[in-house]
Amino acid sequence: MKVSENLARINEKIEKACQRAGRSRGDVEIIAVTKYVTTERAKEALEAGIQHLGENRDDGLLKKYEALGNRPVWHFIGTLQTRKVKNIIDKVSYIHSLDRLSLAEEIEKRAAKLDKEINCFIQVNVSGEESKHGMAPGQVVDFVRKLKDFPHIRVAGLMTMAPLTEDEDVIRRTFRGLKQLQQDIESLHLDYAPCRELSMGMSNDFEIAVEEGATFVRIGTALVG
Ligand SMILES: *Cc1c(COP(=O)(O)O)cnc(C)c1O
Repeated sequence: MKVSENLARINEKIEKACQRAGRSRGDVEIIAVTKYVTTERAKEALEAGIQHLGENRDDGLLKKYEALGNRPVWHFIGTLQTRKVKNIIDKVSYIHSLDRLSLAEEIEKRAAKLDKEINCFIQVNVSGEESKHGMAPGQVVDFVRKLKDFPHIRVAGLMTMAPLTEDEDVIRRTFRGLKQLQQDIESLHLDYAPCRELSMGMSNDFEIAVEEGATFVRIGTALVG
């Protein structure tokens, strides 16, 4: 399948989900997750009109960055080891997996050297599954308050992954939980933590995520796979 055909189908589904939820289509951005595919295929996504690319490993991102440079807006979406931060920090605009203070310290240190502000999503383990990365919901507000001392980190929003299940209610509850937490933090009105964005929804659950308020959906398989 051509990326443009997949994109047309996904766009239609997002449009309908927005209508069901009374949202504006313009408030939802698609991040094409290119971790499984070639640079050529990532390029095809850009030619189809995609502006945001996501990678979950530093080597994958570096390889595609060599070919595509700053043409896309780069998102790092995977678990990030502290020692890998230096490899990606000059290339990405967004990091979706901030989940611990030691990682924030490294991002701050490296971003300060470049005099660059990094948009971060705090990854939250809403569903509480043991296998999932991310911070427990109850720790997020305290964590955000600590980030006050990290001038190169901007808390753009929150990110989560829903459990792998067919049960729509479980998925929906996860996304709703993230939205609730996002609103709690937004209402603190911290200048370094506007926290207006919700990064949630993948190939198999992006329509539910859009209904529940996603502003960034991260789509791999259904778009470029
Ligand atoms: C791989 C990945 C995605 C995309 O998954 P698909 O099911 O292929 O759409 C989204 N988010 C994260 C964090 C990922 O690692």
